Amino acid sequence: MNAPLRISMPAEASVAPKAYKLLIDGKHVDARDGRVLERKSPGHGFMVSHYAQAGAAEVEAAVQAAHRAFETGPWPRMKASERAAILLKAADLIEIRLEDIARLDALESGKPIAQARGEIGGAVDIWRYAASLARTLHGESYANLGDAMLGVVLREPIGVVSIITPWNFPFLIVSQKLPFALAAGCTAVVKPSEMTSASTFVLGNILLEAGVPAGVVNILAGLGADVGAPMVSHPLVEMVSFTGSTRVGKMTMAAASNSLKKVSMELGGKNGQIVFPDADLEAAADAAVFGGFFNAGECCNAGSRLIVHEAIADDFLAAVKALTARVTVGDPLDDLTKVGAMISSDHLAKVTGYVAAAASEGGSIYSGGAQLPSNAGQYLDPTILRNVTENMTVAREEVFGPVLSVLTFESIEKALRIANNTPYGLSAGVWSASIDTCMSVARGVRSGTVWVNTFMEGYPELPFGGYKQSGLGRELGKRAVEDYTEEKTIQFHRGQRTGWWVG
Ligand code: NAD
Repeated sequence: MNAPLRISMPAEASVAPKAYKLLIDGKHVDARDGRVLERKSPGHGFMVSHYAQAGAAEVEAAVQAAHRAFETGPWPRMKASERAAILLKAADLIEIRLEDIARLDALESGKPIAQARGEIGGAVDIWRYAASLARTLHGESYANLGDAMLGVVLREPIGVVSIITPWNFPFLIVSQKLPFALAAGCTAVVKPSEMTSASTFVLGNILLEAGVPAGVVNILAGLGADVGAPMVSHPLVEMVSFTGSTRVGKMTMAAASNSLKKVSMELGGKNGQIVFPDADLEAAADAAVFGGFFNAGECCNAGSRLIVHEAIADDFLAAVKALTARVTVGDPLDDLTKVGAMISSDHLAKVTGYVAAAASEGGSIYSGGAQLPSNAGQYLDPTILRNVTENMTVAREEVFGPVLSVLTFESIEKALRIANNTPYGLSAGVWSASIDTCMSVARGVRSGTVWVNTFMEGYPELPFGGYKQSGLGRELGKRAVEDYTEEKTIQFHRGQRTGWWVG
């Protein structure tokens, strides 16, 4: 039995929870029926936040505000340089408040504070990148259609966008969507997860301070069925940008089809890291541990399947196990923590259920496998499962916890078959010194991102998204702003009408 983790109570535990109001049309408002959502720190157990809880009436007010701001407000009509200046100011303000925002995300999600700081720093970079794209957004012209015709293709903002985000990277994920929508000239209604809404409300204040006009960004806390669903079906919403589970993504897409809205979907993953004997095995072992346990495995990109060549499996796994034993699990607010708390006790039970199912289907627990005793919060020991085979539940479904399933292969064909044998296709990793091997895997894996001799890096310049049931469309990259636009073709004719129809 491990000694209980000692979790210290931070200053926030002895003061009243912070209260957040909804942001609608530039004003901070309570819910009309006065309902409030409560959020406890999963790492400590005390109440961190109270959010006004929106319902259908608030969705209606927020969408109407965003629609007015789009139809008659200055935002879509500004010069791109003016919008870019405001986005840059927002980036500066996020940077100034980085520590506060990181602490809110760590307290509400249970993620380690040092990691949260990195995420907010990454978000600052994304806001700046989006500002640069605002100024380079352009359409096309066709002067090759004959002397009498000039074709011009405009890129116009699509309109009101509903943005719905999950709990695992609260500030980072809204920052993969909102700045690009704003750069395009769109207006938005944003719904963060009901468990991690605080940092998105802070972002709302920052945007107002930076000069984003009232009504352009509206923020609602609330449940998926009460708030997310009407944000998707509302007839004045033109596009839905959703990040979350594949299950809810499918429901969202079905609901959006009613009015044929554009949808952008970033969904689940079941990503494999494939390790060949000629790889830098020390680096690969570190990346295997990072891939499996970063953000407590509550990560769409988690390298939750370690696909290792049989010839090196025993020694390599011994190294992975030894590194895992050195991973610091514990208080999210401790600078040295690498794996923090699980988001909720329900989710922890779901994850340990997967471990139990794996054991009953023939897998064996090589390391970890159980909840860690602690004086507060809920923590799971990083877990390695061996003897996992391709068709076991744990090898196919997204576990979303610190559980690394190990599968083995003896040929590149089998490695690829295992990697592709899931309904998901978000990302993958390959470790080998051979360019041939790396290229064969990179080309053969059906996923939106492949990391070669590295894992889970991200850059605003590089598009991100999934094949198969991991999503639809791409975020980030140079076309990220275009995603929030419609194309309009204008044909200019000059001179005498040609091609008379009646004559
Ligand atoms: P979730 O699908 O349960 O919830 C996501 C959001 O959708 C939340 O804000 C939720 O309130 C809302 N929602 C729930 N029901 C809804 C409905 N009927 N209509 C509209 N909105 C609704 O996901 P989660 O548990 O918050 O997040 C974890 C999931 O997110 C994992 O599957 C993970 O892989 C995925 N994810 C994907 C990416 C990516 O970029 N591909 C990134 C992070 C997380």
